[in-house]
Amino acid sequence: MLGLMQSQPLLISSLIDFAERHHGDAEIVSRRVEGDIHRYRWRDVAVRARQVAHALDGMNLLFSDRVATLAWNGYRHLELYFGVSGSGRVLHTINPRLHPDQIAWIANHAEDQVLCFDMTFLPLVQAVHARCPTIRQFVALCDPDKLPADSGIPNLVSYEAWIGGQPAAYEWPSFDENSASSMCYTSGTTGNPKAALYSHRSTILHAYAAALPDVMCLSARDAVLPVVPMFHVNAWGIPYSAALVGAKLVFPGPAMDGKSIYELIEAEKVNYAAGVPTVWQMMLGHMKPNNLRFSTLKRTVIGGSACPPAMIHAFRDDYGVEVLHAWGMTEMSPLGTLCTLKNKHLSLPAEEQMKIRLKQGRAIFGVDLKIVGEGGRDLPWDGKTPGDLYVKGPWTVREYFKGEGGDPLVDGWFPTGDVATIDADGYMQITDRSKDVIKSGGEWISTIDVENVAVAHPAVAMAACIGMKHPKWDERPIVAVVKKPGAQLTRDELLAFYEGKVAKWQIPDDVVFVDAIPLGATGKMLKTRLREMLKDYHLPAN
Ligand code: AMP
Repeated sequence: MLGLMQSQPLLISSLIDFAERHHGDAEIVSRRVEGDIHRYRWRDVAVRARQVAHALDGMNLLFSDRVATLAWNGYRHLELYFGVSGSGRVLHTINPRLHPDQIAWIANHAEDQVLCFDMTFLPLVQAVHARCPTIRQFVALCDPDKLPADSGIPNLVSYEAWIGGQPAAYEWPSFDENSASSMCYTSGTTGNPKAALYSHRSTILHAYAAALPDVMCLSARDAVLPVVPMFHVNAWGIPYSAALVGAKLVFPGPAMDGKSIYELIEAEKVNYAAGVPTVWQMMLGHMKPNNLRFSTLKRTVIGGSACPPAMIHAFRDDYGVEVLHAWGMTEMSPLGTLCTLKNKHLSLPAEEQMKIRLKQGRAIFGVDLKIVGEGGRDLPWDGKTPGDLYVKGPWTVREYFKGEGGDPLVDGWFPTGDVATIDADGYMQITDRSKDVIKSGGEWISTIDVENVAVAHPAVAMAACIGMKHPKWDERPIVAVVKKPGAQLTRDELLAFYEGKVAKWQIPDDVVFVDAIPLGATGKMLKTRLREMLKDYHLPAN
């Protein structure tokens, strides 16, 4: 017997309809590429998203055709999020930090029909447009008078001219909720990038889950600053969840430096922010020497890379801000786990609570986790045994776009490529990427643990731990370190700093000072490149 409730497909268009009707006056504030601040409201987003839909219909774009963006976090990008997907097309957010060759490859692979781009990326589009034959229309996200006369890009129109004359009313189409809504290519550090293809259903379920109290805890009382880019995994789904709950959104545009982010938080009374550790490192680096304080910021979600304990401490102790450590990946829309305490933890001393907060957190309902060892054997949830982390759920990929890379699943589970422990309370802690793990004398050494100790040293700006071949122990860790500007630090001082913080055999064998640690397009450390940089390095004999 079937239930007798109405069956209404879960569609992204319903989010913007809801936002317009129920919290149409909540603000959307954006720092624009032009440098000024733009402000309007959710009801305006809804009108302009419908104009986007008309513009796409006017081009006779088919259902599921791809519309690409190369854009910062801003209001026009937000309108495309709803207008493109709502009208049945697929929003393809491209990461502008990728190499132009890779961008051209991705646009061709996705068979993008339209490319909407911020003027910052005009030179990039000029460099690649001739190699992207499927793109019929280029749309510069600007006013008509900002469009250069001699860009050399054919079929170029300004966004405001493109949507300007379109009617404000539009009837969103209804279709299967499993239809594709947006896509995001993985960073692709090895081989060609592969695309996760999200559906309307997966996006809406993720939006509901992300807003839950033990996940991002978003509400109509929040002013949210997503520093995490809309060009990578839909800014962790915040645009959708914010529409669902009616939060105010504050977009930083291209100004991602510590000073600009701090000023925006203060000016717009932001109480909630989300971003990767490097962004917050820049912001704290600006605040400390200038003796600055937050007047409204209360919580920040940090993920994308392991959040160093020193950062969680600094936010809490120096600024009174609660850090929520999160873990996820492109293939998971992206949220997998988030770290909040349980009731029974509330009476624990602060330092005991901190040990829990440092973990990547508990699974969200909608995400199943397990850790496996050799031969796919399930490993215990004892908080000690590391294993390959597998996931499954309604917003985890089943396969990649165009079947790229073959069947990624193992018995229905997606292998994340991360190595983790899970404790009896279900708190997961990432110890490594599987390709970065160090096995020394038969024991695992977590590169993240080694890095966390180094970055807790006041003279260290960034640290990356890699394994080096060792005749007796197979591998031994070394740590590559970037010093803070003007800071003094010797190898021996840093090694002494490890004493008492980790077991003796986990202390790295050496410290290599470098000017910079190579970062990938999503801000993660590129250890493959670091290994190449250090290919002539030899461990000290001892
Ligand atoms: P991406 O698909 O580019 O978002 O990268 C996903 C990967 O980032 C994960 O598989 C992890 O290796 C890493 N990652 C994300 N969040 C965290 C975190 N909180 N701690 C450690 N690694 C993380």
